[in-house]
Amino acid sequence: MTSLLAESNLIHQNLVVEHAATDNENNLHEGSSLDALIAHTEVLDSEFTCHPVTEHCPVEVKVDQIIVGDDNLRLTSAGWSKIADVCRAPLGYWSRFPPESWPQFAQYHLDHDPNLAMTGNSHGSIEAVAFRKRFVGFRSTHLVHLDFATIMQTISAALGDRRQSYLVNKFIVNEDSISVELITPGQTHAVKVGDDVAGGIAVSHSILGNHPTTVDLFVHRLFCRNGLTLRHCVGHAAITRSRRLKDNGTQARGAAIDQIERMVLERLSHQTALFGSLSQLPDAQIGRPAGADDEEAIRRFLMPSLRATHLWSDQLWQRVLAPAWRHVHGGNGELNEFAAVNTITYVATHQSDLSFRQRRTLARLAGLLSFRRVHVCPRCNSAIVGT
Ligand SMILES: [Zn+2]
Repeated sequence: MTSLLAESNLIHQNLVVEHAATDNENNLHEGSSLDALIAHTEVLDSEFTCHPVTEHCPVEVKVDQIIVGDDNLRLTSAGWSKIADVCRAPLGYWSRFPPESWPQFAQYHLDHDPNLAMTGNSHGSIEAVAFRKRFVGFRSTHLVHLDFATIMQTISAALGDRRQSYLVNKFIVNEDSISVELITPGQTHAVKVGDDVAGGIAVSHSILGNHPTTVDLFVHRLFCRNGLTLRHCVGHAAITRSRRLKDNGTQARGAAIDQIERMVLERLSHQTALFGSLSQLPDAQIGRPAGADDEEAIRRFLMPSLRATHLWSDQLWQRVLAPAWRHVHGGNGELNEFAAVNTITYVATHQSDLSFRQRRTLARLAGLLSFRRVHVCPRCNSAIVGT
């Protein structure tokens, strides 16, 4: 039986997330061209500033600002949680103490931790990063940091003549990471009659270099706008994802750019296989164990994968996943593998009360389930829970 309450809840959240996820501030709309995206990211990149920490530019922490040399950066709760990360403090560390005492603790850690030793650091190996003068976090200057516009220009160049067909589906700035989904609405593949998907690319980049830049295949189901991503592993090709390259000057930058270019081409070479694999899913019936109804059967089918991604609880199933399976834009109450995948992608795309990382993991799990007739291995499984 369909729960109307849960359904309307999901639909409502769907509308909210579409607004939140598409950045209209600089006229970047859904359906924007790659050129418009690049122009947008150039503006965005210019709003991030770097503030090297050296002997002469030490860090001074106050409750609402962090001062690096002569630069005053606003410090918000997101910034405080980044400082806790740097100090390797446990979750909820700051809440144990009154805010007035936070700067003293933070300052002590930043000055004395041998891995940070910021104040005495004469080599300038750490810099503070700010967005519009708001502290975002610290990053190592020993790694190559490409700006996002350079990454998108590289991807655009790698696509060559195909670049015109790629349009922006979503552009998300989340804390210190930037993600973009590009789709080719003009070139679709029918998974079954009347149910078309567009191919695409999903890019994820960390401003602080917390994870390597990822380029994944992306599939967008036109009917419901659900999306899934296919991560790659060594089983697919020699290159799985970019490594965080050490910065040895322009040569290292060139290597980082080459790496992204190669990833794009390698990923796209698997698109046909992914489409072919997807087309087999509607006919792949899921068995109904004796005494179980359809919902119980789909629950048993999905549970092991969801457990492996640490996204399983009975409560999550009842509240989110079961309604998504019943939803016409999700599993539509059907008992086959395409319905199972669409259940996951529906939640990944629309469930705005799950965290960005949880939704990204679900989109990757859907990719894994979609591709497992072509390839599956333990590395694939671990790649979807990582960064
Ligand atoms: Zn694999």
